Amino acid sequence: MEIEIATIGGYEEVGRQMTAVRAGDDIVVFDMGLNLSKVLIHDNIQTEGMHSLDLIDMGAIPDDRIMNDLDGDVRAIVPTHGHLDHIGAISKLAHRYDAPIVASPYTLELVKGQIEGEQKFNVNNDLVEMEAGETMDIGDDVELEFVNVTHSVIGAINPVLHTPEGAVVYGLDKRIDHDPVIGDPIDMERFREIGREGDGVLCYVEDCTNANRKGRTPSESVARSELKDVMQSMEDYDGGIVATTFASHIARVKSLVEFARDIGREPILLGRSMEQYSGAAERIGAVSFTNDLGMFGHRKSVDRAFERIMNEGKENFLPIVTGHQGEPRAMLTRMGRGETTYDLEEGDKVIFSAGIIPEPTNEGQRYQSEQLLRMQGARIYDDVHVSGHLRQEGHYQMLDTLQPDHLIPAHQNMEGFSGYVSLAESQGYEVGHDLHVTQNGNTIQIVE
Ligand SMILES: [Zn+2]
Repeated sequence: MEIEIATIGGYEEVGRQMTAVRAGDDIVVFDMGLNLSKVLIHDNIQTEGMHSLDLIDMGAIPDDRIMNDLDGDVRAIVPTHGHLDHIGAISKLAHRYDAPIVASPYTLELVKGQIEGEQKFNVNNDLVEMEAGETMDIGDDVELEFVNVTHSVIGAINPVLHTPEGAVVYGLDKRIDHDPVIGDPIDMERFREIGREGDGVLCYVEDCTNANRKGRTPSESVARSELKDVMQSMEDYDGGIVATTFASHIARVKSLVEFARDIGREPILLGRSMEQYSGAAERIGAVSFTNDLGMFGHRKSVDRAFERIMNEGKENFLPIVTGHQGEPRAMLTRMGRGETTYDLEEGDKVIFSAGIIPEPTNEGQRYQSEQLLRMQGARIYDDVHVSGHLRQEGHYQMLDTLQPDHLIPAHQNMEGFSGYVSLAESQGYEVGHDLHVTQNGNTIQIVE
């Protein structure tokens, strides 16, 4: 059976991921993502009403016109997890394919939100829920399996396409976490089996986000204990404390909510995406924040919440807000600019439970946001965080576990791939032979 892999997006950047695997006549698409920095760099662009071709020209979504070169039918569109760089283009591209969108419950809930917000296209693809550990037939000879992985969002899986030529493992995005705070640990046992059964692993597409970083990515439980330490140190402070993190990072939001209560403060989630992601997690039953946790997204209800905080005293609350990357329209940035009724005073504390996404637009915006907060007297606690992506020791571990015949580094640019290329070479892989360093818009024929 011919096996061909199209590297469509996310092979020259961290963002707009999209990869297609053709096994004989059947094609499965993994991820359809958005490169948010290409959108944010323009003032006030609303992508909801935009045409896909304009977004392709901006470099914001994958250029999927290369799909015409693949000789087969798309059988499934499989987003691996709910981050925008993996699902953000579904509402712009999926309607062009006569195939269901297959995802884990939390990811699917977020995909639904994307589709509902879309104003240009009608996306009527079937939405099919599939849990980690489950499988689905793709055509006659191919099977799709979801393996549970751990990442900075719940519901992350690595899809595996079992073909007569061996397994194709799509490894985006993950870290190896045995204590992820919410959900099950990564299923390394299943990966090991897949590496040993039948013809083993034909090809592995790897998440190279942190491939230039040595050592191991710590578990979410490490971020949790660091956060606990930071927040306990503030227990006696009688002024304002504000925290920000990735709205989609439900495990982290859960920790923030719990530690706020531990130090006698009422947590309140503020900002549209805080309400969206935590609301979705509650709907599928992944967390239960209890009924008295306020989540407010709309402008008026946010204003009312801030008024209540100021009336009853800042020392009684922990606002958990959007804006960890300094996004211009997010809540924390607005607080820094003095656009909310929350009054930041000398000595008030701002916890960034997030790293800076290493990308110039983010870095600039985050710098600006921190300066605005400092000008009002805020003290910054930054990087109370662990990454969701494997570092080098995790990559070695995955190679040992899967023993793949072919490797395709993804989720980075050439510079970002370099660390992975070196370590793969040290394990006997050879560029141009079985280590395929590629760019957007290429096809790689693995089996002819
Ligand atoms: Zn991700």
